Amino acid sequence: MSKDRWVEETFHPHWRVRLKADEILHEVKTEHQHLVIFKNETWGTVLMLDGVCQLTTSDEFVYHEMMAHVPLMALDKPKRVLVIGGGDGGVLREVLKHDTVANATLCEIDRTVVDTALEHYPEIANGCFSDSRADIVIADGLKYVAETREKFDAIIVDSSEPIGPSAVLHTHAFFADCKRALTEGGILVTQNGLPFLLPDHLAGTTEIFASLFKRCAPYLCTQPCYFGGPFALNWASDDESLLDVSPKKLAKRAAKRGISGLKYWTPAGHLAAFALPAYAQTVADKAIAKAAAKAAKAKARKAK
Ligand code: SAM
Repeated sequence: MSKDRWVEETFHPHWRVRLKADEILHEVKTEHQHLVIFKNETWGTVLMLDGVCQLTTSDEFVYHEMMAHVPLMALDKPKRVLVIGGGDGGVLREVLKHDTVANATLCEIDRTVVDTALEHYPEIANGCFSDSRADIVIADGLKYVAETREKFDAIIVDSSEPIGPSAVLHTHAFFADCKRALTEGGILVTQNGLPFLLPDHLAGTTEIFASLFKRCAPYLCTQPCYFGGPFALNWASDDESLLDVSPKKLAKRAAKRGISGLKYWTPAGHLAAFALPAYAQTVADKAIAKAAAKAAKAKARKAK
């Protein structure tokens, strides 16, 4: 009788989650990270990177819809989009549903993620890698945004946790370069972890966003396979009006772009996602206040 294999998340120091691997489809230490893809009766096909559950085919729509449609529906005519990370293709698939998008560039550091996604769970990318509007770049996102002279209406940082190759995608330098690569009034969104368990992750990104942009706003989604409560994404833009697009207008845009059949994003849910529970709002408010205090101090120093 073969011994069952259980695959553990190893990200949290004092607790672990493990999923039964009914079949290991691929396991490798790439030049960037440990990658394992396996089948699980409940979750479907699971991708784990460096001991962190990245996605499952059963619930990936939650995160991918909220990463893509919240910024793009808020924009009147999003044409050029940059996705950093996201080598599974889920965010790119959702971005390309917007017929206003003429070009979507995906910059993924690890080709193995793309190759194994196409081999073991192609339904997530659903052909988007071969869409004529998609450009796939295999590179470090930090270097890509530092060097690009392109401008994007939305930049979506679909990174992993701030560990391994992804650590650089949670830094001031990286987000400052993202800002430079945005068109005027463009939107930057990033994944921002579990605010209940990792408030510092939310605080750190919010403080950086608040120091770089006129408006920043964390928003939440309920991603079942991200154990530990609601999952935070974060938003930043210099166009303060973009957070106030009405549900009616969002619904009109979705209809006009021929986007239907989504399984998580709705116009009402889009706005509700920004209504944070008090414990998360307090983290965000403190981070924004900290950024403002630092800016005021720097201004006073300069005035001397
Ligand atoms: N789509 C996933 C989900 O549903 O949770 C999110 C994680 S996605 C798999 C994270 C991707 O970021 C991985 O494919 C990883 O290889 C990539 N990545 C990590 N560091 C990177 C970097 N510095 N530049 C570009 N891509 C990076």
